[in-house]
Amino acid sequence: MSDKQAFTLEDIQALTKTLNDYSYAYHVQDAPIVPDAEYDRCYRALQEMEAQHPEWVQQDSPTQRVGEKPDNGFASVDHTVPMLSLDNAFDNDSMVDFDERIQKLSKMTDITYCCEPKLDGLAISLRYENGQLVRGVTRGDGLTGEDITSNIKTIYSVPLKLRSDNPPPVLEVRGEIYMPKAGFEKLNQQAAERGEKTFVNPRNAAAGSLRQLDPKVTASRPLVLCAYSIGYVEGWEQPDSHYEGLLQLAEWGFKTNNLMARVKGVQGCLEYYDKLATERDELSYDIDGIVYKVDSITQQNKLGFVARAPRWAIARKFPAQEEVTQILGVDFQVGRTGAITPVARLQPTFVGGVTVSNATLHNQDEIDRLGVKVNDWVVIRRAGDVIPQVVHVLNERRTGAEQEVEFPTKCPVCDSDIERVAGEAVQRCTGGLVCGAQLKERLKHFVSRKAMDIDGLGDKLIEQLVDAKLVTTPVDIYSLKDKPARLLAMERMGDKSVEKLLNAIEQSKQTLFNRFVYALGIREVGEATARTLTQYFGSLEKLMSATEADLIEVEDVGPIVAQHIRLFFDQEDNVATVEGLLEQGITWEIAQIGDASEQPLAGKTYVVTGTLSRYSRDEVKDTLIKLGAKVSGSVSGKTDCLVAGEKAGSKLAKAQSLNVPVMDEEALHQMLTDLGAV
Ligand code: NAD
Repeated sequence: MSDKQAFTLEDIQALTKTLNDYSYAYHVQDAPIVPDAEYDRCYRALQEMEAQHPEWVQQDSPTQRVGEKPDNGFASVDHTVPMLSLDNAFDNDSMVDFDERIQKLSKMTDITYCCEPKLDGLAISLRYENGQLVRGVTRGDGLTGEDITSNIKTIYSVPLKLRSDNPPPVLEVRGEIYMPKAGFEKLNQQAAERGEKTFVNPRNAAAGSLRQLDPKVTASRPLVLCAYSIGYVEGWEQPDSHYEGLLQLAEWGFKTNNLMARVKGVQGCLEYYDKLATERDELSYDIDGIVYKVDSITQQNKLGFVARAPRWAIARKFPAQEEVTQILGVDFQVGRTGAITPVARLQPTFVGGVTVSNATLHNQDEIDRLGVKVNDWVVIRRAGDVIPQVVHVLNERRTGAEQEVEFPTKCPVCDSDIERVAGEAVQRCTGGLVCGAQLKERLKHFVSRKAMDIDGLGDKLIEQLVDAKLVTTPVDIYSLKDKPARLLAMERMGDKSVEKLLNAIEQSKQTLFNRFVYALGIREVGEATARTLTQYFGSLEKLMSATEADLIEVEDVGPIVAQHIRLFFDQEDNVATVEGLLEQGITWEIAQIGDASEQPLAGKTYVVTGTLSRYSRDEVKDTLIKLGAKVSGSVSGKTDCLVAGEKAGSKLAKAQSLNVPVMDEEALHQMLTDLGAV
């Protein structure tokens, strides 16, 4: 706050109260109302106001104390040596100031610092007498904490006995109890499944788990202790190095952080910061910064303490991963597969090191779970490259100007209907063949080997054709022959390859009914379903006009698939595209469409397995279908024949066990020759 901004005593009192409310929710209730970044900002503002008017500092100002007084059923214990907080640095300049201050006060240069990741958990003090754990106490307000010994004893990384034949008579170890990310996610997932309240973050979950009156609950939580200093010791001479003290703690059986390091001067501190900042997201636990400590214990003692923190240490905070901002609106994006994703448009805010102006809301279920509305103030989180998420709504900031998020019923890109299938969270656009957002993926599927099988039309070329707006629907593929010059202009396309491609496109027009239906890319209509559908309906007209009730009659087609098919053909644009394709000359042999009973393999079910040398499996399947057979993917009592190539595995074994006739490749070839099919 600059000098020009006038403020009054009431402002200081109000800000003190706000901070104390935040602090109570955070420390006592383990349910923070605002992200740390917001708290820290208010805290710094109060510090600056207090510096300008020291006579206005309130007795209960958070700048004057460490935490909150404990409030529940645990006994209070006074700390032998106060457990303090740490001063914070938010940028390199503050680190340089810190180092200069240390050099000035200690009258030394080239200070050695011990660097440790700042684990985001809860500070704890453990007292050992003659090597036995006698007490575990929370930090509390720094002077008095809560005795949570029985809970502490349930944590496996807390040694109940020191690994030494000759332990110090009294030792107080300080460390952080934290919950690794994976354990936190699992815990929250389980809570959500049981319909219970979830924890906001791992720190909060660790704190809540430790302050359980029933140690069994604590025991069930994945907590870890990491020791970070010797608080007090009797009858043992401490090395004059904090770092070596930590090595000793490790020898006595404590877990210490394996990323801790000793560095020289502020330069070493800054380098350590840069390195850890890049590794932060990969760690299996949350850290919110780095703690730098003057390594020499003699120097630490000389430097001493100020109000609530030691002079010889500082916490350099990483950019906050959570921030508060406002939702200005919700946009709906259409993904490559037609999935509609609601995206919150945010008041731009700096979080996780970048300015963020959007956060995903995933789907309708997530919107309902968050209870989020347009104009809401929310906490957003961005960690690493992960897409920013909305964590929760700040209900207390609602003004009445909030509006429900309305999901569209039509695709914002192509205006086709949006469908939501019961039991699925995702809503999708049904304009598969016409929706610009889905075009590239749809075209790749359309030309693929098992669909229209257009050789030479690879993923890269499709992307170029779409980007150049040469192809906007599958129909356009068939008019590329009129634009050879445009094709030649594409990357890596010469006369030869253009000619080959145009030939392949022409050839693909002569196809099979089932391949054509599969190529349309109707949701959940894969190769096998396409085959069953075409055999059942026999003609495109019948398939396109089938009702959901008709469709359910088809073997292997359930209500969901039936709904997808019906919705697909209900879209006028899809129908226009299908008609356009037929106008381009796409045809399939009528033989299989005519009277099925006249076909040589009518009524027979075949399964094809193993490696064939003369034909590809797809060719065999297509030919069998042309001859009237049904081709299934699995062997059952209803199978009439298994075509088994080399290395046929479980399907062959199953056919033998069910006495299903088996035909090898030679016998197959003979049969196809006899039937005039090859
Ligand atoms: P702090 O968390 O900034 O730093 C001190 C603590 O760091 C120690 O007590 C210890 O628990 C921990 N720590 C982790 N690794 C350590 C290591 N290697 N060596 C020493 N200590 C280590 O300070 P604080 O007083 O515990 O809490 C203040 C912070 O709490 C604020 O910066 C704020 O972010 C947060 N807070 C948030 C709210 C809220 O409403 N969101 C409210 C109150 C406080």
